[in-house]
Amino acid sequence: MDKKILVANWKMNPQTAREARVLFDAMINVGRLKNIETVICPPYPFLPIFGSPKSIKLGGQDIFWEPQGAFTGEISGKMLKNLGCEYVILGHSERRQFLGETDETVNLKLKMALKENLTPIFCIGEREGEEMSDIVENQLKQGLADIGKNQIEKIVIAYEPVWAISTGVQAKPCLPDDALSAAVFIRKILTGLFGKYLGGKIRIIYGGSVDSGNAAGYLKQTQMVGVLVGGASLDPQEFSKIANSLNNLA
Ligand code: PEP
Repeated sequence: MDKKILVANWKMNPQTAREARVLFDAMINVGRLKNIETVICPPYPFLPIFGSPKSIKLGGQDIFWEPQGAFTGEISGKMLKNLGCEYVILGHSERRQFLGETDETVNLKLKMALKENLTPIFCIGEREGEEMSDIVENQLKQGLADIGKNQIEKIVIAYEPVWAISTGVQAKPCLPDDALSAAVFIRKILTGLFGKYLGGKIRIIYGGSVDSGNAAGYLKQTQMVGVLVGGASLDPQEFSKIANSLNNLA
């Protein structure tokens, strides 16, 4: 059985290296669960303080699309690799909303991540009032443009309806039925782009107000293979409960 994927996106939290170390240490047991792959994505400055944890994977929250040079404030894929990261979140809705991320820049970053042998967690999802199918189809087609069939399997797609993300002004719960419809639609687009075999294998995970009460349900009812957790990943007890609920799935 393939491992379920559990991604913690700490966003711009916590504020000190000491707090980050405490938070990380409180989560270390989660890495011992056999049926899940746990990926913690802290802010960049904290990456070096965790050493090379064996049981927990590290991820970045973004990279730049160029390999190096005069790009003030940016972080390269190689830098993340060098700090022990195996994963990188790309195209997160907060970057699309506040930092000018577009489908084109996400596409360039995906290609750079693959070149650096990082596993991209490619975030897609519609905002409140938008049609899921229109937005997701565009994000997938543009974001995955020129990605080869030999590379696509490495990418993890994170479906995150923006209206369900907990920090949104009026976050609403995404019912498993809606997440299932999105998963089926995403699979259809991926199959169209990469063929039935590869399209069927690409991993899709869910993100948006995941907690210990709903995490397992998303996996059981939507054919998705993991979750991306924002707010609840800053609470070690809640995060451990989410991890256990996924680990206990058959
Ligand atoms: C996110 O921002 O990717 C996210 C899933 O956040 P939350 O779990 O807090 O809704």
